[in-house]
Amino acid sequence: MSSGNEKAYNKPSTDFIRAIITEDLKANKHDGRVATRFPPEPNGYLHIGHAKSICLNFGIAADYEGTCNVRFDDTDPSGEDLEYVDAIKADVRWLGFAWADREFFASDYFEQLYGYAIQLIKAGKAYVCTLSTEEIREYRGTLTEPGKESPYRNRPIEESLNLFERMRTGEFADGAHVLRARIDMASPNLTMRDPIIYRIKRVPHYRTGDTWCIYPMYDFAHCLSDSIEGITHSLCTLEFENNRPLYDWILDALKTPCHPQQIEFARLNLSYTVMSKRMLAELVDKGHVTGWADPRMPTLAGMRRRGYTPDAIRAFCERIGVAKRDSVVDMELLEHCVREDLNQGAPRAMAVLRPLRVVIDNYPEDRTEEFAAPNHPQDPTMGSRTVPFSRELYIESEDFLEDAPKKFFRLAPGREVRLRNAYFIQCERVVKDERTGEIREIHCTYDPETRGGYAPDGRKVKATIHWVSAPHALEAEVRIYDRLFAAANPGAEAEKADTDFTAFVNPDSLETLTSCRVEPSLAKAAPGSRYQFERIGYFCVDSVDSFKDKLVFNRIVTLRDTWAKIAEKDDT
Ligand code: ATP
Ligand code: MG
Repeated sequence: MSSGNEKAYNKPSTDFIRAIITEDLKANKHDGRVATRFPPEPNGYLHIGHAKSICLNFGIAADYEGTCNVRFDDTDPSGEDLEYVDAIKADVRWLGFAWADREFFASDYFEQLYGYAIQLIKAGKAYVCTLSTEEIREYRGTLTEPGKESPYRNRPIEESLNLFERMRTGEFADGAHVLRARIDMASPNLTMRDPIIYRIKRVPHYRTGDTWCIYPMYDFAHCLSDSIEGITHSLCTLEFENNRPLYDWILDALKTPCHPQQIEFARLNLSYTVMSKRMLAELVDKGHVTGWADPRMPTLAGMRRRGYTPDAIRAFCERIGVAKRDSVVDMELLEHCVREDLNQGAPRAMAVLRPLRVVIDNYPEDRTEEFAAPNHPQDPTMGSRTVPFSRELYIESEDFLEDAPKKFFRLAPGREVRLRNAYFIQCERVVKDERTGEIREIHCTYDPETRGGYAPDGRKVKATIHWVSAPHALEAEVRIYDRLFAAANPGAEAEKADTDFTAFVNPDSLETLTSCRVEPSLAKAAPGSRYQFERIGYFCVDSVDSFKDKLVFNRIVTLRDTWAKIAEKDDT
């Protein structure tokens, strides 16, 4: 055994799965090897729930100096596609994991799996059943009633072999026959009541084309694929708990190279979103979002486009941990992890989302000054940039109120504020559109003595607001994303109300602001780069729609961190 393993199993285990593995290593089970796998079905894009599984499987391989395979679990041709294979690989890589040549496809095992099926039939442990789908369901029984044996259950082995071979050669229509494991129709576990392990399905496969018209079922293919690859610990989500006896039964019934141990853990559920590929596909198909990579989607591709960092997602997975009880994790926690990471790494910039024109009456018309602005208030190594200042500026319209209550500390007629990194200004008058009464611009004076933001006479202002220089600023589009669903648990609430989950899609999940102004240094912002727009939030240059002369930013997350407050409250 390698010294790495010794080190690993001397470390305290951080979750129940690592505790099991540590014990297995001590007992030299699986010859002291640790081999895991991440087995996505390529029928959709990966979501944040998959990230939990990826971090767990790759994390364990790293902790115990083992290996982690990527295996495409592509045994059901309907809905599977090469587009998804490519997207899944890009997402796992983006999350920060590498698998070298350990990339496998269950479809590469079709011939081997077929061979295993023949072995089962020959051992009298599988039979071809000719009941209809409907009849199979009826014969299956219920949780309280045992099932009924199929009249084909005792069909001679030779007959089953003959029929199964002819199923493969395409002699029968879809659904005419199935291959079933011969286990126990009275088992209290419904999964064990002679489960179907092969069915006829005339759907071309994205990799094997029409080589096959029979396909193995998940329960048959999965355990055998694990075994073929020498997996030691097969980690899956809780809904497969009832399938574990079948997993073990198949491996025991066949002469397989090894017998991996299936361990179940709770799947990740997140509030205000859905976490199933079927539902996500429905959102895409029905046009509720622009695609799998829409920045509102809980997919890794969507989160990447939105501006979430892989570090933040990994930190989130670390924090939620792995347990055996299902729960719903608060979306706020994910957003908190994103903020925590961006607060450290994202340079600051000034942007005005809803511009209000400000004219500084006592500032010379032809003058421009340059102010040095730090890129990060706490991290001088991030350097600084210059921001131009001139007579005409834009400020955020919500930073001005004409009839301001006392507690409104920002700009109002007669009141003074600090412009970030620049001067104090005081509002003198408001210019309105004569017809509509709307505020067109405000006129201010600045105090030249306050350059850099401090008054030599020691007078204080209550607020510092952000701004951009009107002639220098760049126009930009800013997409303000909010939660995709208006309900905390759309799946469950739809069930309760007997409606479709899409009824809970938040109609205000996207607001597009088209006349924003950003500071000129952002002209060189690369697609995908992230900034903190001061006082507003974190934003990412859109990687699809943004161009040098038509900047588009996505709001990643706001600055406000209610999670930090909740956590604080819990602490006290
Ligand atoms: P979905 O229900 O979203 O369609 P799935 O389980 O069918 O997901 P797969 O492609 O089969 O998707 O999943 C690959 C792996 O990711 C499996 O091991 C599965 O258990 C795991 N996984 C899927 N969803 C979650 C989740 N929400 N939390 C943790 N692990 C998950
Ligand atoms: Mg699945």
